[in-house]
Amino acid sequence: MIRSDHFMYDLRELLGSLKLLIGLLAIGSFFVLYISLQYVYIFALLFGIMFAVRGLIGRRCPTCDGALKEIGAERDEKNVFVMHITWRCPRDGYEEKEETKGDAGLFGVN
Ligand SMILES: [Zn+2]
Repeated sequence: MIRSDHFMYDLRELLGSLKLLIGLLAIGSFFVLYISLQYVYIFALLFGIMFAVRGLIGRRCPTCDGALKEIGAERDEKNVFVMHITWRCPRDGYEEKEETKGDAGLFGVN
């Protein structure tokens, strides 16, 4: 669901949702297998655009939809490959912690 006052936040969530990715992958493989191999390029492009848009939107505040700012990052004491990044909303002070590993996956850690 995309709420109009939380458009960016919801759009980012939607683009990162596993259901959408699996759905798109299923539709994509159907087109490629049964219609034409050419569709591989179209769906690859679509996935590329999705990730690009998600990257462009960046982290968003769940309460006011504002862009979150990175206010600090510190290394994990036990694991040097783990970083703890703190994100804060400049408007209402909402904070969230992000844990990133040296080799973060395609989606990172939410
Ligand atoms: Zn906010």
